[in-house]
Amino acid sequence: MPTSQYERNAHEELAELLSAVTAYAEERIRMEPPLDRVRTQDDLDAALGSTITAEGIGGREAMRLFTDELAPACLSVDHPRYLSFIPCAPSDAAVVFDLVVGASSIYAGSWLEGSGAVWAENQALRWIADLVGMPEQAGGAFVPGGTIGNLSALVAARGAARHRAAEGVRPFRVAATGGAHSSIASACEVMDAELVGVPADELGRLTGSALREVLEANGPETFFAVVATAGTTNFGIVDDLESVAEVCREHGIWFHVDGAYGGAGLAAPSVRGLYAGIEHCDSFIVDPHKWLFAPFDCCALLYREPALARAAHTQRAGYLDVLTEAPEWNPTDYSVGLTRRARGLPFWFSLVVNGTDAYSAAVERTLDVARYAEAEVARRPELELVRERDLSVVVFRRLGWGPGDYQAWSDRMLADEFAFVVPTSHDGETLARFAIVNPATTEADIAAILDSMA
Ligand SMILES: *Cc1c(COP(=O)(O)O)cnc(C)c1O
Repeated sequence: MPTSQYERNAHEELAELLSAVTAYAEERIRMEPPLDRVRTQDDLDAALGSTITAEGIGGREAMRLFTDELAPACLSVDHPRYLSFIPCAPSDAAVVFDLVVGASSIYAGSWLEGSGAVWAENQALRWIADLVGMPEQAGGAFVPGGTIGNLSALVAARGAARHRAAEGVRPFRVAATGGAHSSIASACEVMDAELVGVPADELGRLTGSALREVLEANGPETFFAVVATAGTTNFGIVDDLESVAEVCREHGIWFHVDGAYGGAGLAAPSVRGLYAGIEHCDSFIVDPHKWLFAPFDCCALLYREPALARAAHTQRAGYLDVLTEAPEWNPTDYSVGLTRRARGLPFWFSLVVNGTDAYSAAVERTLDVARYAEAEVARRPELELVRERDLSVVVFRRLGWGPGDYQAWSDRMLADEFAFVVPTSHDGETLARFAIVNPATTEADIAAILDSMA
């Protein structure tokens, strides 16, 4: 029991905070989330003023500000009709466990400090490595997102290539198609590497033959990595991984597969065949916060030869000696970044709770809805499919619409808090796009959105 007045106050404040926060969290987890809306800076300034004060306003009032003003000004990415960009639809188990991770003050950068968490994260990574078909020694870490995952993999690739290269040779190029994610160009910018575009085939894919031509025209020894995409963000296109892997092997170039969005399809038997050849990759990423039902921010980064990544990424400093010289698995050694939250734990917990069959079923469910969306688009005379769907992204046009029509339609649905479907563009044309990764999205949701385009 608290004795002093100070302790009594602290005790009461904690009780108040706990009840306000857990009540909110429980309600949010149980509810059908509202889509919510965007507010302007001026509007929020006027409604909230300055929230940070010298004395503090206390837990109850702070939660009121969040509940009444801030939370409704954040779109719910798990809303079933949020189909823009790539949504995030975490499982109940993952969301609930995220609260536990937050409450647990775990440092998951090193085995010394977070052995239990790192062990569990590594089991989750192993499940993914097995889906890919990576060998026993494969390993890596959970990083904040695909952008850091791709950058970290490319840094490892460059380190390995420069280590191997002949005296005076410094490989500085990366090859990928125009369909590769913007984070690849951004990583090359950060690394002062040159991104060389490979023309895609008629299906939009990177292929071995086009890659071979580009490598030979530029000198294969100048490249340190080839990036294939297993599910492009805009269309969900899976590159021809088998032929790309073969060309990489021929030239001894690091083969990175970006599956940030589409890697989840490895768990779905109906599309697994599209990924043939992925098992040859030197590194791979998938964002469980996209299509594997984990909350932000969670990207699984895996290497075939983790020692190569470790050589490129380990930070050295006197105060870190006890960690860098230890033989145990330190996740921080495999990516850009040092301090890390145990961000893979909510995903691990959900896998343990639900079992992997539930993951396959949930991914298949979203593919069923995508198949339905594709069929509906084909059936409706005012709509036209832009290309056949590989995964769960469906891109289509509304005949007779220009960019302004798509934008007005999208704005109206958001203003009505009905759906969030922003237009995309391809080859200069504005188009409609659904990214379906939420098992709660139904055929009826799709039909209702398509009806609004009639
Ligand atoms: C989303 C995405 C990324 C970037 O991932 P973030 O988690 O947003 O940083 C990279 N590659 C692909 C293919 C993606 O879809």
